[in-house]
Amino acid sequence: MPSPPRVYRAPEASGGVYSCVSNYSDLMSSLAEFKKAPTYPNYLDYIGYWGIHAVCLGALWTGVTTRDLVVCAVSYFVRMFGVMVGFHRYFSHRSFKATRGMQFVLALLGTLGVQKGVLWWAAHHRFHHRYSDTEVDVHSPMQRSFLYSHCGWQLDKNNRGTDYTRVADLMKYPEIVWLNNWDLIPQAIYAALIFAFFGWSGLIWGFFISTILLWHAIHGIGSFGHRFGGYRRFATTDNSRNKWFLAILLLGEGWHNNHHFYQSSAKQGFVWWEIDVGYYILKVLSLFGVVWDLRKPPDALIRNREPALQTTMRRFGTWVQDLRRGLHRSVDDSTTGATDDEKLRLDIFKQALEARVDAFDADATNQILKDPSKLGEAEGRFRSALASEVEQLDNVSAAISAALPAALQHEVTRSLETCPFRHFLPKRAAHAV
Ligand SMILES: [Zn+2]
Ligand SMILES: [Zn+2]
Repeated sequence: MPSPPRVYRAPEASGGVYSCVSNYSDLMSSLAEFKKAPTYPNYLDYIGYWGIHAVCLGALWTGVTTRDLVVCAVSYFVRMFGVMVGFHRYFSHRSFKATRGMQFVLALLGTLGVQKGVLWWAAHHRFHHRYSDTEVDVHSPMQRSFLYSHCGWQLDKNNRGTDYTRVADLMKYPEIVWLNNWDLIPQAIYAALIFAFFGWSGLIWGFFISTILLWHAIHGIGSFGHRFGGYRRFATTDNSRNKWFLAILLLGEGWHNNHHFYQSSAKQGFVWWEIDVGYYILKVLSLFGVVWDLRKPPDALIRNREPALQTTMRRFGTWVQDLRRGLHRSVDDSTTGATDDEKLRLDIFKQALEARVDAFDADATNQILKDPSKLGEAEGRFRSALASEVEQLDNVSAAISAALPAALQHEVTRSLETCPFRHFLPKRAAHAV
């Protein structure tokens, strides 16, 4: 049996002391503790958010110099890289690999962007992709008001907590968990350093105004990236759009429709003129060996422009969402009577299944575009991935371990009967596993 992942305790209210835990019951209690949302009053979020906007008015007193503008731009650029390439492409999507040191640098630069902690960010973002623009997507402008999708959602106390089961893969790194929980410390040190080197006007421009510009550009992905204008190269199930102005502001992240179609790619500009500065920087970093395995979209992607295939791919996207829900349901149905500890373990397990569905989605899309007659191979890889996930599930009753493999395989078989590309798959009976 593989040992459970090592996770680290949240800070105690009194001392903030972390202790490494490596046994199973500690893992459970840590996750249970992590799942609780902070309970401070909600107006503090509003004061912090609008207060930082108000401080920018200090520029009326300090004035501005060319040096301030350069500090503002550099501070914006470095932190945008941290959030968009670090928090987004690396931590949320694992679209490339990085050394442990580089991973820390990415998390630190993103944390300086004052976007809450890296685990909070990644957990919410992973959910956004899995259910984009459906009724459960918390920052969809198709479901809620434009302003709420822009910035209101993150001030809503209902979204303050983090579902750590969605980011259990990131919680084995104590330095990442530390940065997540103590994000205000590096942010305060960063502001203090800017003040020490560049004085009051440097602080206003290099930290506060730069932060506001950074925030609204990034918020723009949730709002403008999912509504109004731009172009949709891919008929995804959501309403994502490619917009050049967002791509410039966000170092290549404005090609949001490309990204929603193939989220596992480290590269978001899919044709040469879709400028993707974040990816260019990753290519340079890869020369130094600190990042590698930069995932790219499939070469056959261009085939997806055929209108008939576009329509079917969109139906495939909806089908994948149904598959996700079906797998969740089949875990719930086959594990009734689970204890609280087992339920928590199964929550982590369900998120691990989500990651397997993400991988299958990318694999199957790739296969459909290249050679749909080999879709069965992607199905086979998916089935073995599910089986290996069940094998790694420990500390649950023998009844649960025995029931899950067949339940999951049966659910896949059942779902495949409605897959828009089922005619490319080998025939099998609904009861087969
Ligand atoms: Zn994303
Ligand atoms: Zn999106």
